[in-house]
Amino acid sequence: MARFCPLFSGSSGNCLYVGSATAGLLVDAGVSARRIERALWEREIDPGSIRAVLITHEHTDHIGGLRVFCKKFRIPVYATPGTCAALRDSNALEPTTMCFPITDTMQIGEFTVTPFCTSHDCRESCGYRIVLPDDRCVGVATDLGVMTQTVRDHLWGCDLIHIESNHDIRMLENGPYPYPLKRRILSAVGHLSNEACARELPALVRSGTTRIVLGHISRENNLPDLAYATARAELAACGLTENIDYVLQTAAPECDRPYTVF
Ligand SMILES: [Zn+2]
Ligand SMILES: [Zn+2]
Repeated sequence: MARFCPLFSGSSGNCLYVGSATAGLLVDAGVSARRIERALWEREIDPGSIRAVLITHEHTDHIGGLRVFCKKFRIPVYATPGTCAALRDSNALEPTTMCFPITDTMQIGEFTVTPFCTSHDCRESCGYRIVLPDDRCVGVATDLGVMTQTVRDHLWGCDLIHIESNHDIRMLENGPYPYPLKRRILSAVGHLSNEACARELPALVRSGTTRIVLGHISRENNLPDLAYATARAELAACGLTENIDYVLQTAAPECDRPYTVF
């Protein structure tokens, strides 16, 4: 049995929970330690059961609460060597907090964790494939300008994926953002659009994925219903039926649901 909850998702802060009955991991800690702690307790998860925080990259919406949370609960951090260096350079960690560089598959407590490269405008961003003790597998891939074969390979066969569906291209183009920011988001090191995300989903469902969580949804350039509809339409066009072949969810900026058990 595995547990998953996108506690916080989007540019206002990211923090995902992945756990078993006895222990858990966080992916990113982008809101205050107080809010992370409260979100865990609301789901009756003891923060003391968190074995590590895996960081995808050093942007503030992924590390805002990291320093305080890891200090308070004496939790180690795992990140790519580039991200570890970026965290140290920007004083994002207490000197006493361990930051372990992760380059390949590692055992962290009862979890088997594999990082994989993502295309984003930072030092060395990554996504994670996490295998739980009962062989349930979770894939996390957000903050990527383009889907790459590396990312596909690592999401392949995961029971549950948390994948970026950041913006609707037309809403972004016609929206309020300044032109350079629009260009950055649309670039190969920006964020994944609804359309680009949706295109990946049929093959992933055929690979065995039954639960899809659309994450890092932009508040300004997207609507949760639009992300949802775009994904469902692409899956339907490939003959895949919601709630029979797969379960689809959108991640809210702040989750108000219990964790998913699968
Ligand atoms: Zn982000
Ligand atoms: Zn980012």
